[in-house]
Formats: sequence, C-alpha cells, structure tokens
Amino acid sequence: MSQSVLTSAAGVAAQAARRRTFAVISHPDAGKSTMTEALALHARVIGQAGAVHGKGDRKGVVSDWMAMEQQRGISVTSAALQFSYGDTVINLLDTPGHADFSEDTYRVLTAVDSAVMLLDAAKGLEPQTLKLFEVCRQRSIPVITFINKWDRPGHDALALMDEIEQRIGLKPTPLTWPVGIAGHFHGVIDRRTGVFTRMQRSPGGADLAIEEEMGDAEAAERYGAEWVTANEELELLEMTGADHDQGTFLAATSTPVLFGAAVANLGVRQLLNILVELAPPATARPTVSGTDQPVESGFSGFVFKIQANMNKAHRDQVAFMRICSGRFERGMVVTHAGTGRPFTTKYAQQVFGQGRDTIDEAYPGDVVGLVNATALGIGDTLYADKPVQYPPLPSFPPEHFAVCRTSDTGAYKRFRRGIEQLDGEGVVQVLRSELRGDGLPVLAAVGPMQFEVASFRLEAEFGVKVHLDRLPYEIAAVTDAEGQELLRGESQVEVMTRVRDGALLAVFAHRWRMRTVAGRHPGLRLDAPLDAG
Ligand code: GDP
Repeated sequence: MSQSVLTSAAGVAAQAARRRTFAVISHPDAGKSTMTEALALHARVIGQAGAVHGKGDRKGVVSDWMAMEQQRGISVTSAALQFSYGDTVINLLDTPGHADFSEDTYRVLTAVDSAVMLLDAAKGLEPQTLKLFEVCRQRSIPVITFINKWDRPGHDALALMDEIEQRIGLKPTPLTWPVGIAGHFHGVIDRRTGVFTRMQRSPGGADLAIEEEMGDAEAAERYGAEWVTANEELELLEMTGADHDQGTFLAATSTPVLFGAAVANLGVRQLLNILVELAPPATARPTVSGTDQPVESGFSGFVFKIQANMNKAHRDQVAFMRICSGRFERGMVVTHAGTGRPFTTKYAQQVFGQGRDTIDEAYPGDVVGLVNATALGIGDTLYADKPVQYPPLPSFPPEHFAVCRTSDTGAYKRFRRGIEQLDGEGVVQVLRSELRGDGLPVLAAVGPMQFEVASFRLEAEFGVKVHLDRLPYEIAAVTDAEGQELLRGESQVEVMTRVRDGALLAVFAHRWRMRTVAGRHPGLRLDAPLDAG
C-alpha cells in the first residue's frame, strides 16, 4: 500500500479492522504461557508456509521474551506480543499473574477489545480467573472461553458448562465439542458445521497438532461409546439453546467455548480462527465528552501501564499506550491532554516481540511503549490534531495494606514527593488515615509485589529508605461520609481516604467481618469489591 493510502481515513479504518487486541485471563498454572507460545507458534508456522511477504526469521519471538522475563525474575516488563495470522494482526496483551499479580494486571483489561478465559479442565473457575473476569464484566468485554488441558483427566464437559453459567452468569455457547472425556481426547466436533476433526499431538508435541477430518461413520466405529456420548451431549446443548449468538457475545452475556490442550497445540488453530472470525476488532472508544472516538479520526491513545525499570543501571521508564484512533508514527509530536503540553514520541518501542524493537508506525488496537516518558501518568490521553480525552482508569479494590514510614527525618520532603510520584503513576494506591495522619501514609495494593516495587523505587529514585508495616486488613469497599460515621463504633474496620480520587474506603480485616457489619447496618453504603467467590 502506498503511504497516502495508509494514512488516509479508509486506510486507518482498514488497519483497525485487521486488529484483534485481547488478553488471556486465567489462574496461575492454567496454561497461559503455554497458550501464548502455542498461538505464536501456530501463527508463525502458518505465516511461513504461505509466506509471500517474508517476515524474516521470527523464530524465538516468544522465547526471547520468556528469557527476558526469567532473567529479571519477575514479569514486570511485559506488555504486548504482536504477530500476524493470515491477514490479521494479533495483539496479545500480557496479564502478569503469579506473585506479581497487581493493579497492572487489571489495568491491562482497560486496553483490550476481548479476552480469552483459559480454564484448567481439572480445576474449572479459580480465584484469579474470577477476579479478572469480574473486571471484564464491569467493562462489558466479550469473553471467549478455552477449556485447556483436555489431554489430562478433568471435569465433565457439561459440568464445566454448568459451572460457567451458575457461577459467573455467562451463557456458555460451545463452538466445538470434545469427543472423549478429559484425558481421552480424540478431537472436536464443530457445532456449526457438524464436522468432526480428529486431533493428535505431533511427535514430540513441539509442532502443530495433526488434524484430520473424519466422517461420522468412521468416527462412530472408531470411538464407539465416546462418539455416542458426544452426540448425546450435543443434542442436549441444542435443546438448551446453547448456540453461538454474536450479539450476546459482544454484549458480554454469552461466551463461545472451545476445548483443547495448549501443551500439544490441540485446539489452538480453532482458537485463532475464532479470534479472527468473532472477536471484535479495534473500534470507536468512548471519551469523556460522551461521544465515541472513531478509529479513523486523527491519532489518539491512552496510557494503561507504566513500567519503571527496576534495574538501577537503566533508570528508564516506559509508558505503554493503547492506540485508539489514527495512525501513530514514531517521532510525531502529540499533545498531552491533561496539560496541553507537546510530547515528542521519539523513543517509541514495541516491548514484546524481539525484545525491544523500535517501532515506526502503529494503528488502533496496537500497543506502543514510550521510553523515558516521565511526564506521563496512568490513564493519560495523548492526541494529535483534534483534542480528545479518554476516561480515567478505574481504581481497583486493594487487598494488601501497609503503613509506610521513614526514620530518615531529613528526607521528609523527598519522602512526600516520592509517595506522590508513585501514586500518580499508579504503582500503589495511597491512603490517608485519620488514625495516623499525613506523615504516615498507608499504601494499598492489589498484589504485595506492588509494595516491593514502591519501596525499591523510593530508595533508588528518591534516596529515602522506608519501612513498611503490614496492616491486618484484606478487603476494602467504597463507602460515603455517612458510612464513615457509622463505622466509627465498629472494630476491625477503618475508613481511609484514597488520595488519588478522594474516595472513602472502608477497610476490613476479613470478608466475613465486612458481611457482619453490613448486616448490622442495612443502610450502609459498601460498594461490593471484586468477589473472588
Ligand atoms: P501459566 O501459569 O498459566 O502461564 O501456566 P503455564 O503455561 O506455565 O503451564 C503450567 C503447567 O501446565 C506447565 O507445566 C504446562 O506444561 C502445563 N500445561 C499447560 N497447558 C497444558 C495442557 O494443555 N495439557 C497439559 N497436560 N498440561 C498443560
């Protein structure tokens, strides 16, 4: 395509329509990393097989990133993995899990257009999956469900469908159905075409699955009772109306379901195809003015994640921006919507892929890392041409609390500045407590790793050694001034003010304590936090 076609409104709209920007939501060990590898492998092999425009050797794209993560010990560098699949550009945004589960993990979901909910067949819905799903629900993000590890013993397929419907209220609409129970996986029937595809792990499992379409008669003969069961289950699904409906999927009330085993690349092709076929592309996004910003407008984007380098030798800070409209070109001067100041995007990088690559252009749905972007904060909007502002990113209910103090009396100014900076960047939430006063802020976090990052940075960047005293609280709910008064007489609860937005947070020692207190005061406002069941 010529330059003028690429920059034209129609060119940008066509680029946006090719994008699928999503994240995998799952509990640790469900197979997210394995699935990420499998998706990229599949796309790469397909790309190479039919390569007209060679992309060079993309081998090791994912493993490079894994090595980088391992080297650092924590996956704080992650952002977005981009690869082409046929004519589609896939942007897979990482949701850090494990020990470093943090507010960042939630914030990533503000930058995606859909999510893949990955469940371990033997475990079903697990706590972290539920928390992440809750964010998807609040934002009406369409969710595709992948039941993973079907090569290992696990729950019954229908029971898993029931669990999804009962526990999270999403109507499961399977697109494929397994022949063989978990642990005896023979392949899947495509519910829309009725075609059975036999699937086998390639020798060694490092390659694409071996797939073969098989007629019903042959399948019936080969799989006997398992074939009969699968077909009975399919009839049952049909009777309950569990058919895919694009409208309810996009409205986030139903979820297409696929079965497979990422470790053997089984069902991975089907997932990629469904992402291309059904998942929403980058489209117009709501702005604070109440109107949606069309993708073909001038360039705009917002910062959903800030990554300060933990390495003292390279104190750079990367702001990750999701592009919402227009074409981004490295070096372009954009406007920071909050301050109206110009911002030069000279150091734009793609931070996954082959490590850090300089990127020259990007389109709606893509993620760009802006290096040394110290002027940018979480949720900030950048635009070129016509002013636009995206809504601030939500704060998520913290589950870990600690009083932050410094014994270094001479450093109080730096201490305050540091705390303010970390709050602005969204590294931790800063709370003020009447009990403790201004000098002793309470830091609140979704995951304890955020505390480590905060104290490291206070020392490394502001020269303040701090001490964190953990508080015995584990759940917070937003209340109001009336609630604050009501709660004064209660034990094991404290009301604190969140500095960032002035919200009053009632902080409780236990979930059951919150329930008891709520039961005693029927009029008390306690906005339900994310419920991990
Ligand atoms: P993550 O924590 O969600 O990123 O999970 P990983 O991708 O690291 O996988 C956790 C473990 O499950 C690893 O030992 C994987 O090899 C294994 N695993 C992942 N997918 C499958 C699968 O489809 N079948 C089986 N049997 N094991 C799997």
